[in-house]
Amino acid sequence: MANDDTHPESIAAQALGWFDEATRAVNPPIHVSSTFLRDADNQYRSGRLYMRDQNPAFDQPEAVITALESGHQTLLFASGMAAATAVFQALRPGDHVLAPKVMYWSLRNWLTGFATAWGLDVELIDMTSVDDVAAALRPGATKLVWIETPANPLWTITDIAATAALVHEAGALLAVDSTTATPVLTKPLDLGADLVMHSATKYLNGHSDLTAGTVTTRADNEHWQRVRAVRAQIGGTLGSFESYLLVRGLRTLYLRVRAASDSALAIAEHFNGHELVAEVLYPGLVNGHGHDIAFRQMTGGYGGMLSIRTAGGEAAAIAVAANTQLWKRATSLGGVESLIEHRASVEGPTSPVPFDLLRLSVGIEHVDDLIDDLEQALAAAHS
Ligand code: PLP
Repeated sequence: MANDDTHPESIAAQALGWFDEATRAVNPPIHVSSTFLRDADNQYRSGRLYMRDQNPAFDQPEAVITALESGHQTLLFASGMAAATAVFQALRPGDHVLAPKVMYWSLRNWLTGFATAWGLDVELIDMTSVDDVAAALRPGATKLVWIETPANPLWTITDIAATAALVHEAGALLAVDSTTATPVLTKPLDLGADLVMHSATKYLNGHSDLTAGTVTTRADNEHWQRVRAVRAQIGGTLGSFESYLLVRGLRTLYLRVRAASDSALAIAEHFNGHELVAEVLYPGLVNGHGHDIAFRQMTGGYGGMLSIRTAGGEAAAIAVAANTQLWKRATSLGGVESLIEHRASVEGPTSPVPFDLLRLSVGIEHVDDLIDDLEQALAAAHS
């Protein structure tokens, strides 16, 4: 369906307009076969041999995400972690990589705990400073720079275009975890990144009913071929039903992300300066960290994720979460239901997350209900 002028909202809503040739069904059939017939002359003209990395259910979500990210190709994985780790596993022992100090904690733990043991030279730096990136790059040795923007759970911002220029000058690749921004709000490949990764568990699917991950590349190259090989050989791939659910979720991506983003801004502005809130962390606040860069590189909003630091320290933060009724106390993000979480309880002592921080994933409920519920929970925690 898509031509160059087709808006991404239309691409998403119709999932590229694909239908099943055999039945004229507008939703894809769910194939369950793990194996495919070989032709009598020993060829595989269907192009498919085995389901692990050739599941027909991958085709549509991969094509839709490639179109939305303006990329060359997308690979679907069984989780965001499977997708992200494949990008690093495609490197070689001794390769130097830069990653942010503030990032999705589980990937940071894997990088420092496992990737280093397998021979990657991992250096964590402050990715909000292009000067720090420039100083840390080792031309020839640095092969990959990983950034996350806005970065979980402080929502700090990295300048993708400026970082890409430096990284390319040093002969390395730039990969962006764009889970929070989504293609609705940021197009990392258009800004110069080489790879964009999503935990599709979050906004791309949007309904908290599967785990999935994606990596999209701007160009075919040796590293990308190795990422493909990692997926095919290690096999962290998605099931057929989950792949179908992801397509279903993608159809409403633009509506959901814009609604969550508008509400997150309203919530951030409401609680900024509130007497029971020490600080609101949200790139949409004009006085917020990284706002100028976010204003330039994000389009139409700043995302549905924010954090608040409560007055009264850790005990008050935990009490606020305990007293919410509409906000659900649960981990994860990017679903239609709003979630609240005391992040330090999850991330442990090695994390840079302050003890008084509550992470908020804004869903699509009425924003007044979300604000009222937080107001009563703050009051209850301080009564
Ligand atoms: N990246 C970000 C920013 C995340 O928030 C998460 C999960 O919370 C991941 C990656 C990992 O994704 P998954 O949980 O699908 O493995």
